[in-house]
Amino acid sequence: MYTVAQLIGGVWGAGGEGGELVVHDPADGSPVTTVPVATADEVAKAVEAARGAAAEWAATAPAERAAALHRAADAVEAAADELAQATTAEMGKPLDDARGGVAAGIGTLRQYAELSPVRGGRTLHGAPSALDFMAPEPRGVVAAITPWNDPVAVSCGLLGAALVTGNVVLYKPSERTPATGWLLARGLDQALPAGVLSLLTGGAEVGAALAGQDVDVVAHVGSTATGRAIAAAGARTGAKVLLENGGSDPLVVDADVDPVWAAEQAALGCFANAGQICVAVERIYVHRDVAEDFVDALVERAEALTVGPGRDPGTQLGPLVDRRHRDHVHGQVTAAVAEGARVRTGGAVPDGPGAFYPATVVSDCRHEMVLVREETFGPVAPVVVVDSFSEGLRCAADSPYGLAATVLTGSMSHAHRAWRELPVGTVKVNAVFGGAPGGAAQPRRGSGQGFGYGPELLDEFSTVKAVHIEAPGGGHW
Ligand code: NAD
Repeated sequence: MYTVAQLIGGVWGAGGEGGELVVHDPADGSPVTTVPVATADEVAKAVEAARGAAAEWAATAPAERAAALHRAADAVEAAADELAQATTAEMGKPLDDARGGVAAGIGTLRQYAELSPVRGGRTLHGAPSALDFMAPEPRGVVAAITPWNDPVAVSCGLLGAALVTGNVVLYKPSERTPATGWLLARGLDQALPAGVLSLLTGGAEVGAALAGQDVDVVAHVGSTATGRAIAAAGARTGAKVLLENGGSDPLVVDADVDPVWAAEQAALGCFANAGQICVAVERIYVHRDVAEDFVDALVERAEALTVGPGRDPGTQLGPLVDRRHRDHVHGQVTAAVAEGARVRTGGAVPDGPGAFYPATVVSDCRHEMVLVREETFGPVAPVVVVDSFSEGLRCAADSPYGLAATVLTGSMSHAHRAWRELPVGTVKVNAVFGGAPGGAAQPRRGSGQGFGYGPELLDEFSTVKAVHIEAPGGGHW
């Protein structure tokens, strides 16, 4: 059982007067974590204390901040196994996936430690006696509000980039993975001056209290509805708002591909992490010529997955994060069936403990169904049959979201049409996952705004000062 403590003003164990939450293991319902809830007053005090530490950290040499982040990465690496186990216990993903998320997070911390000190600004020479240069500076106080679905990888990106560029950070991890957030903060804090990192815990109300404070940046990775609430708060306070939010990513399957290979790609995209990935495949538009073979092969893949608690070796499909989320997933499947869709496998809530939901393939879907248009965030593959690649692209583009999209095609001209025509941040051709480490994109529409990843995130957490210098009296130096 983990007992989480907050970190406010450099003091571990501070506050928590807002009560206590208990997190349950989604595999069997047993209690895993107790976590204190911050009051609004504690949030305000934490922001004030962080502001007090901001100037000194901003004035620390970039190479020194980078060295601190490398030491922080060492500390996180030393706790990697504990972090992976906490992730699995709190949100259910298979332990190997959790280890992968932790390793990715450590890699990101190190990448930012390397990249940040070598960044510079442009210089301009407007006249022989004049020099203009652009110097990046920290923005000040950053609130980082994160989700549960890949808690270490996502948090390391925001925290690493914000800290190494000289900002102080108030970290609010998801209430579904607070022990994972606490273990991560403990590792990072070991290598940082006191007060540079704060940890606030609790639910949506703590996130809302933090987003409403006088901070310089609010960086949120999470649902679209929350992102919109945070954008509204930012409009009131003037904080810069960085949003990496939900999606309903399409997969377009062209007429010329091997349907069995396409089904393997679809199964990976729909069922990895039980579908709880921001860029999971959420809807499939398959060409009529290959549709039948594709669906048969997808059903076969879904039924072959090993289901079990994430801690069991060999588990490919763990539980969903909790029963509330399972109700949401099952509700969308049930509504689609009521509108004429057909469950080909899965689609039923199993008996027994935990929040398990089977890998589910739903055929005879229509583009207008909520299961197709909205984010499901579960192990569900809704299949819509289309008569042409153009129709598939048109449907794929018609969405309130704009995170990512995949097309499977043997045609170079179709591949080029896809990246030109799809209004999303990332287009993938012939692979649902596998982008290079350090890659970054700007999500569109309901999926967010700004770069949440990659070297560009260092720019998001910096502001640029332009300096113009001339010799006095128009002469030369
Ligand atoms: P969520 O938005 O409900 O919660 C994320 C964080 O926001 C939590 O810490 C939560 O306490 C906090 N929060 C909730 N309401 C708030 C409010 N009104 N004001 C301020 N903070 C608030 O999201 P979630 O359920 O934890 O995560 C799943 C979602 O995250 C999915 O939609 C998924 O697509 C998205 N996601 C996106 C990316 C990406 O890079 N685009 C990555 C991972 C997850």
